[in-house]
Amino acid sequence: MPRTSAVLSDFPKHGHDHRACGSHALAEAEAICHSRGARLTDLRRKVLETIWEDPAPLGAYDILAKLNASGERNAPMAVYRALDFLIENGLVHRLSSLNAYIGCRHVGRSHSGQFLICSQCNLVAEITSDAVTKTVARAAAARGFKPSGEIVEVMGLCPHCRGT
Ligand SMILES: [Zn+2]
Ligand SMILES: [Zn+2]
Repeated sequence: MPRTSAVLSDFPKHGHDHRACGSHALAEAEAICHSRGARLTDLRRKVLETIWEDPAPLGAYDILAKLNASGERNAPMAVYRALDFLIENGLVHRLSSLNAYIGCRHVGRSHSGQFLICSQCNLVAEITSDAVTKTVARAAAARGFKPSGEIVEVMGLCPHCRGT
C-alpha cells in the first residue's frame, strides 16, 4: 500500500545508512550558513555531526559526552551555545518532551516543528503540515493569542515498533 510506505519512509529504517543522512545534512548546513554569512565554527559543526550520528534524538549531555570522548574538553555552556546557533539557523530542533535535539530534515524550508515521537525506540519523524500550522494559528487567533512559535510533539509507536 503506497500510503504505508510513505509513512514508513519518514521514520529511519533500521539498518538504513544514517551516515549518508549526516553528510548530506552537513553539506546543507555549510551552504545555508555560507549564504547567510553565519559561521559554522568547528564546535558548531561537530555538535551537528554528533546529532546526526545517532538516528534518535540526543540530550545536551549525551552530545557533550560524545564530543569529549576523544579527549576534548568542551564545556556544557559552549555546547548549549552551539545548539542555540543550530536551532536559530533551522538546522536542529529541540524536542521538549524528551529534552533532546534532532537534526532538521527540511533545512532551508520555512516550517514550524511537528514531530511524531516513538516512545519505544525514540525514533522521530518530522512532518511539515501546513494544515496543522493553520489550524493552530486559527485557534490561537480566535482566542486573541499571538504565538511566537509552534512545536507539535506527538508521542506514540512507530511502524517498526508496531510491527506493521
Ligand atoms: Zn525541521
Ligand atoms: Zn519505534
